[in-house]
Amino acid sequence: MKRVGVFICHCGLNIAGMVNVKEVVDQASKYPDVAFAADHRYLCAEPGQALIKDSIKQHKLDAIVVAACSPAMHEVTFKNLIQTAGLNRHQCEIANIREQCSWVHDDSKKATEKAHVTLRQSIEKVKLNESLEPITVPVTRRALVIGGGVAGIRAALDIANSGYQVYLVEKTGSIGGRMAQLSETFPTLDCSICILGPLMVEAYRNPNIKLLRLSQIEEVKGYIGNYNVKVKQQPVYVNETKCNLCGECAKVCPAEIPNEFDSGLTWRKAIYIPFAQAVPPAYVLDAKNCLGLLPQACGECKKACDKLGTACIDLDARPQIHELEVGAIISATGYEPYDASKLTEYGYGIYPDVMTSLEFERMLSASGPTSGLIKRPSDGRIPREVVFIQCAGQREPETALAYCSKICCMYTAKHAMLFRHKVPDGQAYIFYMDIRAGGKGYEEFVKRCQEEGGLLYLRGRVAKIYEENSKLIVKGVDTLSGKTIQIQADLVVLAVGMVPSLGSRELANILKASTDGNGFFAEAHPKLRPLESPTAGIFLAGAGQAPKDIPESVAQASGAASKALNLLSNPTLEREPTVARVSESCSGCGICIASCPFEAISLNEKTKLAEVAEAVCEGCGTCIASCPSGALSLRNMTDAQVLAMIRAAVSS
Ligand code: FAD
Ligand code: SF4
Ligand code: SF4
Ligand code: SF4
Repeated sequence: MKRVGVFICHCGLNIAGMVNVKEVVDQASKYPDVAFAADHRYLCAEPGQALIKDSIKQHKLDAIVVAACSPAMHEVTFKNLIQTAGLNRHQCEIANIREQCSWVHDDSKKATEKAHVTLRQSIEKVKLNESLEPITVPVTRRALVIGGGVAGIRAALDIANSGYQVYLVEKTGSIGGRMAQLSETFPTLDCSICILGPLMVEAYRNPNIKLLRLSQIEEVKGYIGNYNVKVKQQPVYVNETKCNLCGECAKVCPAEIPNEFDSGLTWRKAIYIPFAQAVPPAYVLDAKNCLGLLPQACGECKKACDKLGTACIDLDARPQIHELEVGAIISATGYEPYDASKLTEYGYGIYPDVMTSLEFERMLSASGPTSGLIKRPSDGRIPREVVFIQCAGQREPETALAYCSKICCMYTAKHAMLFRHKVPDGQAYIFYMDIRAGGKGYEEFVKRCQEEGGLLYLRGRVAKIYEENSKLIVKGVDTLSGKTIQIQADLVVLAVGMVPSLGSRELANILKASTDGNGFFAEAHPKLRPLESPTAGIFLAGAGQAPKDIPESVAQASGAASKALNLLSNPTLEREPTVARVSESCSGCGICIASCPFEAISLNEKTKLAEVAEAVCEGCGTCIASCPSGALSLRNMTDAQVLAMIRAAVSS
């Protein structure tokens, strides 16, 4: 018989405002096997924890139940605490009387009754809890970073500089991500590539970083500390160590396609350098747009390169599969701009002078299609009247994106300011809903931009854009004055939002991580574990988790790297032992094998019975329900415990 201690938290007024805590304590103290019951205003704070620790000793408790907030918040805290008082950490249960009682009920009597029931269930469960020891597994002390934008580069460098090997997997021909496309960056107006370029080179030269470009993750097996990852690398037709960037291959290449780095505003050849500062510094052959490699239809690039004696093109190259063993994975796959052609009211894709913010960014860039000059795509004229539309397709749950991308107010202010620097007699109009300038120095930046003149902020939405006499007629409403506005613009720039990179959901499936409703990588807890995915060992960095600016992406990358380093710094790690186990009544039918989402079950060759890899099992319980022989059970969530909890719930 266990002596159970029960501790009920007020959580300030979060619980005590709705649940009659004194009554719950009173009833709990009379419940069978409860040796001690008490309440406290904040059990998670030091005095509350001291109460639990002292009571365990004073009342010789064998197990405790904490009736408080969700176990996602503080279960680990209380488990750690009872260990310091000499109990096994599995002799602790949490009864969630906040999220499941006080917060969801408006009738105090009923909420209090539900708190009694919830508490009784946890008492019955803890009475049957086994004392368990953690499972110890070895750690492969290498990391994988997926995505070579500024977040991925920062994370890879932090890990590599701590002495661990890192694979940096990038799907395009160069690292750098979107930041490489930007002109100058708010709020300091540093040249983007000037601050990013040295980091890219540092990552490339770091002996602890192995860069796999043109590569994507095909398969991930294993578990925290021990992943086996298959990476498919597209054929690298150009030898990066031999290519001297002479460009002779591109000169003779007959295939021309829109250049994605310049957001389609220029053309490139099928063999090309992704951008001037690309890392690795080598040409890339784009097999999809080449006139033909299997069988070869042209081969002009190879002839040109061979003629020079460089001979770095191999048109017979084939894809490669790399099998990597790593202990920690950081996903840093970034974002794409929202598809502006879906916003039919703005005429993007119909009128050449309606462009997206990223296209405008390329035009502002000294290395961009117009060498930094602002020109209308339709006729090359310098625009005088430019309309910037913030929140284009954002904060519109019915028709486009429901969320705010957080950075568009800032980059639009930057765009308007840079436009005025380049066209001093120009006039910028910014349609906005409100200005969100929450970062360090951001409010001051927007103010500075407004004070420079030639800039008019108009609060309201644009209803329609159409073309008339080579001008764009922008019709909207100024909600502050209540007046309809019509502007004859030379150029319109749409501040479209950020959406997750193409293939994010597929990658999340491969990683067994999850995505949120918008397709971004989901974090384990929005406040307490924002750098971790819910799957142990998979960490998150940058705009692939949610829209972010550069400082935030970099900060999160360093945070994710330090989480990964925490894992890699020990040769072994301990896992929760609340995993599935197989009893002798297993018939070897194998049904459970397919049911396990973590591939933790296999059939033992010799015994022909199911076997659970304890280090892989996440304790989700799916297999238990699938077994027709009832041979599977979950440690500390056995049938006997579930039945005891049901009985406690239905007995009044
Ligand atoms: P990304 O830059 O998107 O990099 C992600 C990388 O991952 C890419 O290289 C991509 O190819 C790769 N990748 C994607 N999926 C995979 C996969 N499955 N496998 C392998 N690789 C993959 N921020 C500022 O702070 N200041 C500014 O002035 C500023 N201006 C901006 C202007 C505009 C118009 C826009 C749209 C954004 C601006 N930003 C600015 C935001 C900035 O671009 C982002 O904060 C930053 O790029 C985020 O970096 P990241 O590494 O998370 O993502
Ligand atoms: Fe590189 Fe050869 Fe092309 Fe010159 S011709 S840029 S060396 S691939
Ligand atoms: Fe261009 Fe392909 Fe011909 Fe090379 S083989 S020159 S990449 S079309
Ligand atoms: Fe797989 Fe069963 Fe463990 Fe869930 S509890 S991870 S289904 S073995």
